[in-house]
Amino acid sequence: MISNRELFLQNTAQTSNSPRLFEIVKAEGVYLYGPKGEKYMDLVSGFNVSNIGHRHPKVIAAIQEQLERYLHVTVYGEFVQAPQVQFATNLLATLPDNFQSVYLTNSGAEAVEGSMKIAKKFTGRRQIIAANHAYHGSTQGALSLIGNKAYHEAYAPLLPEIDFIDFNDEAALASITTDTAAVIVEAIQGEAGVRVPSASYMQALRARCDETGTLLIFDEIQTGFGRTGKMFAFEHFGIVPDILMLAKGIGGGMPLGAFVARKEIMDVIKDNPMLGHITTFGGHPVSCAAAQASLQVIQEEKLLETVQEKADLFRSLLQTPKIKEIRGLGLMMCLQLETFDQVYAVSSYCAEQGLMIDWYLHCETALRVAPPLTISIAEIQDACKIINEAIEKFC
Ligand code: PLP
Repeated sequence: MISNRELFLQNTAQTSNSPRLFEIVKAEGVYLYGPKGEKYMDLVSGFNVSNIGHRHPKVIAAIQEQLERYLHVTVYGEFVQAPQVQFATNLLATLPDNFQSVYLTNSGAEAVEGSMKIAKKFTGRRQIIAANHAYHGSTQGALSLIGNKAYHEAYAPLLPEIDFIDFNDEAALASITTDTAAVIVEAIQGEAGVRVPSASYMQALRARCDETGTLLIFDEIQTGFGRTGKMFAFEHFGIVPDILMLAKGIGGGMPLGAFVARKEIMDVIKDNPMLGHITTFGGHPVSCAAAQASLQVIQEEKLLETVQEKADLFRSLLQTPKIKEIRGLGLMMCLQLETFDQVYAVSSYCAEQGLMIDWYLHCETALRVAPPLTISIAEIQDACKIINEAIEKFC
C-alpha cells in the first residue's frame, strides 16, 4: 500500500525540496505522536500557534458545543453570530480603550491585507513603510512588506509605494513623513531570528508616527496571546499601536486571524464603496468558539504569570559557549549557532531523541524555541538535556 508520506510527496504541493516529513497521527498537550508510536515534545508549537498546548480539553469542548449549533452560515459581517461577538468583546476587554473594533479573518496574511487597506483609506495616503528583514505573510500585499529582496524579485511586480527602514534604528525614523499612511512592524521580528527592539526605539517610532499623522500597525501574529509573557508584546514597550494584527495563537489551534483598531479607522470599509473588505469564512464560528475558550484558558490558568520563570529556566539550563547568543522575550526564543549544518544536525538529533525543534525562515543559523506556554518545569529540563547533548555533539 502506498504510504501517506509517498502520497504527500506525490499529491500535495511542495513548498521546499526538503520537507521534514514527520507524520503526525495525534497531538495532545506539549506532545506530537507518530504512526509507529513515536512521541515528540513540541518546542515549535506549530509555529507559535499552540500557545495553550495541543487539543486543550476546554478548546475541544467549546468546538464540540459549537458543532452542535452551526458551522458556516453566512459571510462575515452579515448575521449576528454569538461566537464572533463574544470573542471580539472579550478580546477588546484585554486591550486598551483605543482598540474598539475587531475584524476577524482566516489567517495572519489576511489581517495584514485588511490593515493596509484601512490605513490607506483612513489617511488618504499611499506610502507604507515596513522594516528590513520583516516577515508578514505570503499573499501579494503581505509579501510586498517582507524585507527579503529574493522574494520580491521572484514574484514582482508587488505593491507600489512600499519603502523599507532598518528595524530598531532610531535614525531611520526620519523617513516617516506626512506622506506615510502607515508603518507596519512586527513587535519582535520573528522569522528574522527573534530580534527584540528596544523600548526607546518603539517609543520613538510611536512619537514619529504621531508627529506625521501616520498610523502605527503592529504585527503581533507571532508575539500575541501570551507568547512573550504579556498578552501582547506592545505592553513591554510602553506604547500602544493604532492597528493590531493577530492570528496564529488566537485560535487555540483553529484557523483565525484579526485586525483591531479604533472604530473611526475600521469604519472606512463600510461605505464608499460599501463592503470594502469582505470574507466568506473569516471569523468562522467554530474557530471563534475555540478562540474564546483559548482566551479563557490563558486567563483562568494564569499562564502569563509562568512564562518568565520558564524562559529563565531555559536560559539557565542552556549555558554553553557553543550557543553564541540566546535572543528573545518570554517563550519566544532563539538559540544562535554558527551554521545551518549545525542547526540541521542538532534538530535532527533532537527529533531522534523525541524533541521537535526547528529554525527560522530568514535566520537558518538559529534554533527556534517556542514551546506551548503550558510546558512544565520537568519538561523544560528534559528538553534542555537533549538540546545540550545535541549541541555538544554537533557544534
Ligand atoms: N506575520 C508574522 C509575524 C508571521 O510570523 C506570519 C506567519 O508566520 C504571518 C504574519 C502570516 O500569517 P499566516 O501564515 O497565518 O498568513
